[in-house]
Amino acid sequence: MEKILDGKAFANLLGQNLKEKVKKLKDEGITPHFCVINIGDDPASKIYVRTKKRRAEKMGIIQDIYQMPADTKQEEALALIDKLNADPAINGLMVQLPAPKQIDADALLERIDPNKDVDGLTPANIGHLWMGNHFVEPATAEGIIALLKHYEIPLEGKNVVIIGRSNIVGKPLAALMLEQNATVTIAHSRTKNLGEITKKADVLVSATGQAFLVKADMVKDGAVVVDVGMNHVDGKLVGDVDFDKVKEKTSYITPVPGGVGPLTVQFLMEAVVKLTRRQNK
Ligand code: NDP
Repeated sequence: MEKILDGKAFANLLGQNLKEKVKKLKDEGITPHFCVINIGDDPASKIYVRTKKRRAEKMGIIQDIYQMPADTKQEEALALIDKLNADPAINGLMVQLPAPKQIDADALLERIDPNKDVDGLTPANIGHLWMGNHFVEPATAEGIIALLKHYEIPLEGKNVVIIGRSNIVGKPLAALMLEQNATVTIAHSRTKNLGEITKKADVLVSATGQAFLVKADMVKDGAVVVDVGMNHVDGKLVGDVDFDKVKEKTSYITPVPGGVGPLTVQFLMEAVVKLTRRQNK
């Protein structure tokens, strides 16, 4: 029988602890304060930004939203990042992606002060991640590792297959899995015989944005399956995994919604507090 990895419940548990930490910081006269820069009108981005804001408020963290118009110029976005980098009252900042076409998003990320990089996506922090001396990690990847630890699922020596090689999910998760002494395979859209590879996974993570990509015949009996995907099908939020059939084969599986999503938001808040403490040491 599969067990559900309840990301929502775990995020709420972590949230209680974080609220306490924020309260202690406030007693020391420090209120964690971060900024989200959102450029343009991507509807999903607007929802994510609002979700973060609600969570931040719940944690006692200040979150400012800088909503910039769709025709924002690169220099204008860079100037805002420079201003926030230089402001000692701001502990963290992030750029909500995707950005409109005229914007070079990599150049924006590169401009963020690594000490305020709550998403862990600046080149400096990606380098730290792979070198093993990181102080901030991309939230989704960190959330997945924490969730598996919370359920006491061992990673050492396990075959971990990650489908997806994005900078925000697949690659950082691979780095963190290696750190846990897992043997890691990263698959992507050009991978041949995907099912053969995924069938070898003790832990299978899918982060592709392709609804129902992972079918039951691609999963080993007793595997742990983590579904990062968020796809809208017939007005419903679904993951990458054909949940109802795949769950019959797994020992543990994350649902969508209620799995990885709430952890991503929670770990962003954890990163804000971590960087705030680091800056005030
Ligand atoms: P990207 O589009 O940046 O990356 C998708 C990856 O999946 C790419 O590496 C791509 O391969 C690979 N891929 C696409 N189709 C296939 C396929 N048919 N077979 C194998 N690999 C495939 O997406 P993100 O990493 O940003 O996000 C992935 C999903 O996770 C999305 O649904 C997103 O909404 C969700 N997400 C959820 C979060 C959460 O908190 N739950 C947080 C972040 C993202 P290639 O590189 O070759 O193109």
